[in-house]
Amino acid sequence: MPTLDLANAKPVVVPPATTEPRALPAKPSLVGQGRDELKAALAAIGIEGREARMRVSQLWGWIYQRGARTFEEMSNVSKHLRQALAEAYTLDRPEVVAEQVSQDGTRKWLMRIPPSMAGEKWHEIETVYIPTRDRGTLCISSQVGCTLTCSFCHTGTQKLVRNLTAAEIVAQVIVARDHLGDWPGQEPPEGAFVPTDGGRFVTNIVFMGMGEPLYNVENVTGALMTLLDPDGLQFSKRRVTLSTSGVVPEIGRVGAETGVALAISLHAVRDDLRDELVPLNRKYPIAELLDACRTYPAASNARRITFEYVMLKGVNDSVDDARRLVRLLKGIPAKINLIPFNPWPGSKYECSDWEQIERFSEVVFEAGYSSPVRTPRGRDILAACGQLKSETERLRAKDKAALMSKAEQDAFRAMSMVD
Ligand code: SAH
Ligand code: SF4
Repeated sequence: MPTLDLANAKPVVVPPATTEPRALPAKPSLVGQGRDELKAALAAIGIEGREARMRVSQLWGWIYQRGARTFEEMSNVSKHLRQALAEAYTLDRPEVVAEQVSQDGTRKWLMRIPPSMAGEKWHEIETVYIPTRDRGTLCISSQVGCTLTCSFCHTGTQKLVRNLTAAEIVAQVIVARDHLGDWPGQEPPEGAFVPTDGGRFVTNIVFMGMGEPLYNVENVTGALMTLLDPDGLQFSKRRVTLSTSGVVPEIGRVGAETGVALAISLHAVRDDLRDELVPLNRKYPIAELLDACRTYPAASNARRITFEYVMLKGVNDSVDDARRLVRLLKGIPAKINLIPFNPWPGSKYECSDWEQIERFSEVVFEAGYSSPVRTPRGRDILAACGQLKSETERLRAKDKAALMSKAEQDAFRAMSMVD
């Protein structure tokens, strides 16, 4: 049985294709569409009522469980309907303009999506696949850029922002499965994670790519419906995690409607510092955010809320901060993920020293929390947390050295990646 061999995975870099403006797609694609959208698409070609319901399930089966790329291959759909579908629609995916494979097996795809309205530009979004020994996690984007300007996050510096549609969010999963050979009967690419149980390669989904999912809550909820539906992409809600910087009014609603796991980007334990790191804190301060967590409908001791804490040298990484953190989280079913800061060109912070991360983690551990330090993945291809930004930017030599230092990589590898 082939296993994941990170050490020998080959780095492959496909340079971005030309970004010349191009014609809009002549026909809409059905890929990524939810039940209601698909029903409307069928109604537009004269199929309604009970037949439409039946056809939606049939089409979903082809698109989401078998990865169909043509209507022609839909053998249980009548020839007449296949022709009608092909005349009006496509099964096109967002175009992948670059695929990068990190030395650690992480894969990043840069995808191009058409404008959502006349006059708008084409956009690029990034999706990252992170294989570990027991799972394949896909990190997906919910927006182009992000309107929230967290001071340590590269995505927040991007000027172009638009919400992704539900279909564009779901399509990222389809593209990843295409490229991983994750459809029945396909072969995975060389060096890829191969599940030993014969299951799918993309086992988990995290909304931790570009954007704040709860600032695009309608489309994110719509996408979740398709991702979680047993007739759709069939993900368990336990394997889907939504990460938010703290849009308090939406937290309970998304939990009640979808039941997915929650991650909170906390990063500071005092409001004055969090105001600076996560400016949304000025609107929804720590106490309100934690109240929303206490009442999150989909949390329990078995399904803990993840608190993400980026380790910034001399900023939020003192032992006193660690003590305050465990006091703050008292009574919340929580786990804490310490994330070493990932530098990006022009960032003003440094990652905490390793010894300091250990001291911090010790306090958290002694308070009864497992305190995994999240191993940065895909640093060499800027695919790690907070490094996603679709414009190509050159790293200064100094930054590059910081990213690629062998000793540092070895130290991080030694730590286990835990959820
Ligand atoms: N907008 C959402 C989800 C995307 S960010 C949110 O903020 O939660 C995914 C995670 O990466 C968040 O916890 C974010 O705070 C963290 N992150 C952002 N920039 C980072 C950086 N440079 N280094 C490490 N983690 C970072
Ligand atoms: Fe946006 Fe999240 Fe980055 Fe903050 S950390 S700027 S909310 S993507």
